[in-house]
Amino acid sequence: MSEPHIVIIGGGFSGAAVAIHLLREAQTPVRITLIEPREQPGLGVAYSAADPAHRINVPASRMQLSGEEEGAFDRWYRQQTSFLRDADARRPDGSVYPQRGEFGRYVAQAFLTEAQKQPGRVSHLRDTAVAWQDNQVITAQGRKISADRVVLAVSHPPPDLPKEVRAIAEHPRLVANPWVAGALENIPPEANVAIVGTALSMADVVASLTRLGHRGKLLAFSRHGLLSRPNAAAGLPKWQAEYAHGSLRQCLRQIREDIARAAEIGLPWQVVLDEVRSQGQSIWQQLSEREQRQFLRHLRRFWDVHRYRIAPQVADAITAKQEAGLLTVLAARLKTVTAKENHLRVQLAVRNDAPQDLSVDYLILTTGPAHASLTESQPFLRDLRRAGVIRPDALGLGIDVDTHSQTLDAQGKPSAIFLVSGPAARGRFGELMGLPQVADHAQAVAREALLTLSARCPII
Ligand SMILES: Cc1cc2nc3c(=O)[nH]c(=O)nc-3n(C[C@H](O)[C@H](O)[C@H](O)COP(=O)(O)OP(=O)(O)OC[C@H]3O[C@@H](n4cnc5c(N)ncnc54)[C@H](O)[C@@H]3O)c2cc1C
Repeated sequence: MSEPHIVIIGGGFSGAAVAIHLLREAQTPVRITLIEPREQPGLGVAYSAADPAHRINVPASRMQLSGEEEGAFDRWYRQQTSFLRDADARRPDGSVYPQRGEFGRYVAQAFLTEAQKQPGRVSHLRDTAVAWQDNQVITAQGRKISADRVVLAVSHPPPDLPKEVRAIAEHPRLVANPWVAGALENIPPEANVAIVGTALSMADVVASLTRLGHRGKLLAFSRHGLLSRPNAAAGLPKWQAEYAHGSLRQCLRQIREDIARAAEIGLPWQVVLDEVRSQGQSIWQQLSEREQRQFLRHLRRFWDVHRYRIAPQVADAITAKQEAGLLTVLAARLKTVTAKENHLRVQLAVRNDAPQDLSVDYLILTTGPAHASLTESQPFLRDLRRAGVIRPDALGLGIDVDTHSQTLDAQGKPSAIFLVSGPAARGRFGELMGLPQVADHAQAVAREALLTLSARCPII
């Protein structure tokens, strides 16, 4: 019998990590094909960032390929010449916050190292999956690839264009996707800029503009005007508590009480929320669907700004701009944008205040990946969805999967072929965005694929 063939669609962090774990854990030979258009596996959307101002938002010691490798990236990074050259990466408490591309380089190297240990087991095809026909993956370059298992590791689609800006979609003063390399480089230093969004991507944009010497006024707005919070200093004790029981209301009450108790003994709220986050998947899975919806509607925006933090270097850039009166953050909603000859006219409905009518030189969208429309975001997923092979999850977070990460078809039946690795499976697992959880999930998906192909013994 020929060796089982596992095809991984998408070679960002998740796809590369699944491949690495497959290579490490397979007890009988498997063949792996990683389909990823980027030159290097492991980078994806987050870690292909070329802008030196874009930093990992947690200390390097928290970034790893699996829970068993704690601290491995931090040790690797401190041995690189890039560490010696980047004095800004180091913090007074001894922690380091490398540029995001460094982590991509680390994962790409780990992929290569594992691949070289077992020549011929894994191949990286620089191609894009575009269709699924007769149990084969069809690629943009016309390949037809049969697979025993297909792992979907396609997490972050490009941002959606809000309906208010569709009429000016092609306008040169609109930056619809600031992740595109060089997207901000043509903005003159004195330009007046409005930014839609106040979360992590906005923080990246402010850090980039600062690096580019921008001196003009920035206005960032979102419905609630909430900014991502900074990290606490390194080396604080781990908070001990159990949150995965009771209702959403009880859980919330306990978290609030624990934050108050932590403050009494001089510990910041971050230690409590770090513990909540580490239990996030268990908490999420024991909530009813009604409570999950309540969380998404009422609490998610607060959770997100406390849980997705910004690197201290980026926090410093934002604070400096605010203190200099160059950055204003507003709770407001975009009403209309009109293109004028050399500027854009932006109308805002401001929360609890009078509407504002502004003239800006540039408008930048930092609303983040359009996860709600992931299954419609590209031909391959659209094809699978239309054929009823996959479906979006009921909460609009990504692709519907069961507890084994197998996709559910249009009737809710688990697939014998497709698995999802990474944030696209968040509807089922909840907290699945930060690297530690995404890394553990990749390992679990690799094990699941091997178990169902009988290429790995179950863990006793
Ligand atoms: C901008 C950003 C910054 C982040 N920073 C941090 C951080 O500092 N710390 C932290 O803990 N977490 C961070 N995260 C979260 C987390 O680490 C990422 O969510 C994680 O890297 C997810 O990677 P992924 O491989 O699942 O998805 P992606 O990065 O989206 O990678 C998917 C890959 O699939 C490929 N692909 C898509 N469709 C196809 C197709 N049809 N055929 C072939 N290939 C395809 C794409 O080219 C892409 O490379 C960040 C996330 C983002 C978006």
